[in-house]
Amino acid sequence: MTVRLYRDDPYLLEFDARVVARREHESRPAVVLDRTAFYAESGGQPWDTGTLGDAPVVAVVEEGDTILHVLGAPLDTMAVHGRVDADRRRDHRQQHHGQHLLSRAFVETASARTVSFHLGADVSTIDLDREVGDAETARAETRANEVIWEARPVRVRTVTREEAMRLGVEPPDGAGDDIRLVEAEGFDVQPCGGTHPRSTAEVGMVAVLGRERYKGGSRVRFVCGHRALDAFRRRSNVLDRLGVLLSSPLEQLPQSAERLQTQLTEVERRSRDLLERALEGEARRLLDSAGAPPTVVVAVYDGWSPADLRTLALRLVALSSCVALLGSRGEKAQIVFAQSDGLPHDVPGLLREAAESLGGRGGGKGNLAQGGGERVDGLAGALEHAAARVRGASKAP
Ligand SMILES: [Zn+2]
Repeated sequence: MTVRLYRDDPYLLEFDARVVARREHESRPAVVLDRTAFYAESGGQPWDTGTLGDAPVVAVVEEGDTILHVLGAPLDTMAVHGRVDADRRRDHRQQHHGQHLLSRAFVETASARTVSFHLGADVSTIDLDREVGDAETARAETRANEVIWEARPVRVRTVTREEAMRLGVEPPDGAGDDIRLVEAEGFDVQPCGGTHPRSTAEVGMVAVLGRERYKGGSRVRFVCGHRALDAFRRRSNVLDRLGVLLSSPLEQLPQSAERLQTQLTEVERRSRDLLERALEGEARRLLDSAGAPPTVVVAVYDGWSPADLRTLALRLVALSSCVALLGSRGEKAQIVFAQSDGLPHDVPGLLREAAESLGGRGGGKGNLAQGGGERVDGLAGALEHAAARVRGASKAP
């Protein structure tokens, strides 16, 4: 069985070992060593990475009692020098020990027990057996940080199952008779196989980022140490940018954003109102120059949206008995055709024909249809052709 060097020294990053077996894991080469400083994923803590000789260690997993070092390249030698990635190990020490402290703090301040936890690549979580509120969460967060700032010694020792029970520790199922305890002096004792710092101070800080209801309790998201500093920086940067954009001091950002939203709603309402009035005016101008009804109104605009064309067309056919043939030139040609109730023309048919002549498509039903095509140059001609068809049909007996 492999000697687990990290258990006695979680700061050990380099070691020499012998390969005792070669395997394959998910079609990658893997080796078993006589001793290792690599932590294999277990108990909610992710594996270490690093190198064995020149081969990158991409995963470390336990299969029964065997620790498999999964490699990114084959390793031919029997004797190897191992190097554990220092930043990742330190990060895991900080996150994992921070988790122990936060979990204990929730027990102390809110009688909430941790039923499971997950050390994630970005954010870690603990799941509490009861729901906690803002004030309880803040109290637990403060308490955990106080214990960090007191720089209490962290000790690891192995005791018998009976001793563990006497200390009020419940050994996990299948833990055997030797129970490894991780103790933050005078604050917390937990059975744990993970890598922990020598002092609570190394955790630096525990910062709760959020919380949600989860399985009748609460799931609390948190970061520790370097990640807490990163999270603080990222949030500061975002808030600074918002402060400049909204010309607002930090404390007034929410009010500034709310004010902006209110203004935007008002501006949108007013712009809709003005557009309505402009379209109404445009409809009357077109009808004034169109002569006596029933008549055909043809108009081409630049860069109008199909929605605005439709609004104008509907306004025209409501104000006077007419056929409206409207178009807009943009990246594509847009067309909207409409007629007043009681007029006899096949509006969808006329539109389909016009759209096809523009190299596009369109459709509709009854008295309204819209479409478009790529041939912007053909727009005026297509509308005139449709107008001629309408006039011809109107003259027919
Ligand atoms: Zn632990």
